[in-house]
Amino acid sequence: MSLLATAYGKPKQRPRMDPLSELVQTILSQNTSDANSRPAFRNLLATFGNLDAVAAASTDDIASVIKSGGMNRIKARYIKDTLGKIKRQRGKLDLSFLNQLPTTEARKWLTSLPGVGMKTANCVLLFSLRKPALPVDTHVLRVAKRLGMVDSRASAEKATVQLEGVVPPAEIYEFHMLLITHGRRTCKAQRPLCAKCVLAAICPSYEVFVGRRYGEEIKS
Ligand code: SF4
Repeated sequence: MSLLATAYGKPKQRPRMDPLSELVQTILSQNTSDANSRPAFRNLLATFGNLDAVAAASTDDIASVIKSGGMNRIKARYIKDTLGKIKRQRGKLDLSFLNQLPTTEARKWLTSLPGVGMKTANCVLLFSLRKPALPVDTHVLRVAKRLGMVDSRASAEKATVQLEGVVPPAEIYEFHMLLITHGRRTCKAQRPLCAKCVLAAICPSYEVFVGRRYGEEIKS
């Protein structure tokens, strides 16, 4: 990881939101970019004022103000149902109680909510509550597989378990951010830039993509 930190710089902590806002914003970010989901979240709050008002709104009204996030009808339903379930179970829209739970328990509680899978739950746990939970998105999964850190056929959920077992808890945030940056800039899905990669010397996939290791002499 120090090689990646040297190449891309040490990741800065994201601004911290309360866990409920982080949850709603993460639902909005499913299958789309931050550039699309953040305006949708801002629009949601600007229109309704707060998440209590969002919970009381109709699914149609929520869907109409989150259009920029894509899949707006599905996400509106998830947001409405999730806020409703939290309110019924906790008596109010507040997830700060998760702070007191061990990571595994907090994740279990979150993934019982509509539209909340392991990655969404881990975003809330890592970014808002600063717990050692690893969101495995498409970049993290691809890079981890190419580096041989997880099985080549592992699902995102299986990869989460494997990676959380080997990455020290205090380094999970940095690991997550650096693998995403590496996946976007160098270890791209279609044409990884292996010749420029700082991990080339230790990556078992290097030869798959390039064929030969640096400095290897041609034998005649
Ligand atoms: S050597 Fe290639 S496949 Fe391996 S991490 Fe670097 S870019 Fe990805």
